Amino acid sequence: MISVFGSVNMDLVAYVAAAPGRGETVTGRAFRMIPGGKGANQAIAAARAGAPVTFIGAVGDDAFGPRLRETLLAAGVEVGHLRTVPGPSGIAHIVVDDEGGNSIIVVPGANGQMTGPTEAELAAIARTDVLLLQLELPLEAVVAAAREAKTIGGGDAEPYTVGAGPRPHARDGARGGSPVSVILTPAPARPLPDELLGAVDVLVPNEHEAAAITGVADPERALDALLERVPEVVITLGARGALYGSRDGERLHVPAVEVKAVDTTAAGDTFAGALAVARAEGRPPAQALRFAAAAAALSVQREGASTSMPSRAEIEALLAE
Ligand code: ADP
Repeated sequence: MISVFGSVNMDLVAYVAAAPGRGETVTGRAFRMIPGGKGANQAIAAARAGAPVTFIGAVGDDAFGPRLRETLLAAGVEVGHLRTVPGPSGIAHIVVDDEGGNSIIVVPGANGQMTGPTEAELAAIARTDVLLLQLELPLEAVVAAAREAKTIGGGDAEPYTVGAGPRPHARDGARGGSPVSVILTPAPARPLPDELLGAVDVLVPNEHEAAAITGVADPERALDALLERVPEVVITLGARGALYGSRDGERLHVPAVEVKAVDTTAAGDTFAGALAVARAEGRPPAQALRFAAAAAALSVQREGASTSMPSRAEIEALLAE
């Protein structure tokens, strides 16, 4: 079982020959409203990949709020802990030009009002195996979620290790159960305080984020630098696959599945959601990474974000090829 503590946005996408300059008005070709936000995308990816998922986040009391809630619900995501706060929902205002270039304005709205988990939300997190985090909420809220998730199980309990098999759940939010494994996608990239990384089990940056965080461009060396701060790291390398390293010395390069990419939007979110599912099932790193790479490869062959995420059956069929 997975919990996601993260962002949810309505993406407002205008398609136009060339983006307008300052003071200019242009006529666009098409417009689409697409539910997004890294948190919601990862939640939907994990639900489609076959796990029960609880989403914790916030929408506004505007017209987008109910639509965003319904999108998550329709994907099978539990939304009992989705907050509704006064004011607008988060939006991303996106202009896509005919050359495929884009410019994006994100207005955090309700996401910007998120605070650390409430008692009830923490109890929900305690019932899950994996907590998925990103950086589209206020940093204090993300830090609180990561740190409080680690206090479940008493703090000094043995960390859950990949390959250890399913572990007992902390039922009904009772403290003293097994710890929740915390996976962080550090996007958008920003300096990461030790307070946050100290509560993260697996960091999953793409190569640009890994370089921005460490100041080291070479992914292998960035991995080494990150392993000084987090026990396990996965750096995704787009069509070149993903690198994995752990502090106990394991290193893997998992190639991407060769496919014809149509739209790589949310490839990383699909990868993270599927990785969380595989970890929650206790799969060892090589298997978990192959599962995530298969899910992401399926998603890049279709347009859109949540609309492109594969089902469990599709992932398993690709892995069986
Ligand atoms: P992000 O979307 O965060 O920038 P990446 O571009 O690194 O992340 O992609 C995440 C994962 O998605 C990769 O590790 C890979 O498994 C898969 N992927 C991305 N692009 C392709 C592609 N063109 N073909 C196959 N798989 C891809």
